[in-house]
Amino acid sequence: MPTALYVHIPFCLKRCIYCDFVSGIYEPEKAGAYIEALKKEVQGRMIKGISTLYIGGGTPTALATDVLADLIKYIFSLFQFAENYEATIEANPGTIDKEKLQAIRSSGINRISIGVQSFNDDELAFLGRIHSSGDAEQAVHLARSAGFENIGIDLIYGIPGPSIESWKRTLEEAVRLKPQHISTYELTVEEGTELSEYLMDHPHPNPLPSRERVLKKSPPSPRGRGIGGGGNNLSMPEEDTIIEMYEYTIDYLTANGYVHYEISNFALPGYQCRHNLNYWDRGEYYGVGLGAHSFIDGKRFYNTDNLDEYLKMISEGKSPIKETEDITADKAFFEAFFLGLRKTEGINLKAFSERYGKDILQLYGEKIGELQDAGLMELGTNRLNRYLRLTRKGILLSNEIFAGFT
Ligand code: SF4
Repeated sequence: MPTALYVHIPFCLKRCIYCDFVSGIYEPEKAGAYIEALKKEVQGRMIKGISTLYIGGGTPTALATDVLADLIKYIFSLFQFAENYEATIEANPGTIDKEKLQAIRSSGINRISIGVQSFNDDELAFLGRIHSSGDAEQAVHLARSAGFENIGIDLIYGIPGPSIESWKRTLEEAVRLKPQHISTYELTVEEGTELSEYLMDHPHPNPLPSRERVLKKSPPSPRGRGIGGGGNNLSMPEEDTIIEMYEYTIDYLTANGYVHYEISNFALPGYQCRHNLNYWDRGEYYGVGLGAHSFIDGKRFYNTDNLDEYLKMISEGKSPIKETEDITADKAFFEAFFLGLRKTEGINLKAFSERYGKDILQLYGEKIGELQDAGLMELGTNRLNRYLRLTRKGILLSNEIFAGFT
């Protein structure tokens, strides 16, 4: 029975140009109807006890303080929470103030993940974020003074335009604020986003004023990773620059006491995100809300991502689940293999073969040998367990390595 619950809030004040998450523009009335439906869906879940709760989005903090606090209290009133529970909320620095943070904290949330993304105001403007770097810094201070002792910040690297020096400054600012957790994601261009359209608009871009500022600083790129580039266009950084940024990130954050525990995640000792570790360990979880999915008894259940349909289904007393996927033994094996390798501690080979009934080394011994020879994977022994993991070079090339196994 899952003990992890994800709750999706699909509203934002404004759409960021790179975003393809299930989220629309916040309107109080729509949000009110959604929260009522969400409560009904949560109420119908047979959850015995919760060890981790994650309220994500969208922007959960786009909701009005009373609405948000009421929802959190409602969830806490419905279920039994473990004594050492972890309850996270995602927050956008442009949507919080002291009162809202205090209300969230006193309702039971004990971990906050703040979407800082960059400490460079030009980059924030380019990305379409609604806040400045000053707002982000203030958000961390406000969260701390509201009683949050477990604060995470999300950062994005590989933003078109500025140099690696800008990323280094962002990391320095992040470390100066001493959050317990730092996630660093490479900016990816998702099809259908404003960013993808912008980058393909070659050779005569019509940048928004905010982007023009970045454009002036941006050196022309000879290659745009398949999405144009050169001339006066802003284009994605070169692969070498991305690798340099990523390597610097690992060196800099580990030198400052952060443990690199997953491809994109760093934490002070004892502050790894337990909710996300459950995903990477292929643990079961419930997901409620628009577009949310659940993983229970070897099946994945996908809620509709159409808001009107979601509201209608719930109001008619029907399940909002639109699709169910049986995870075959083969699929489970590959999911576990790839998710396990995302963690820097790698895969415990004995526990893996006991759970999935297959011996990784018997199946892929030759391939793994080649990857070892290339310095991309390593086999070792840790606390009497044999493990398989990616080397740092392997982590940098993880997408290519994963593709080679399918
Ligand atoms: S705030 Fe987050 S969810 Fe909302 S548009 Fe921006 S990236 Fe997407």
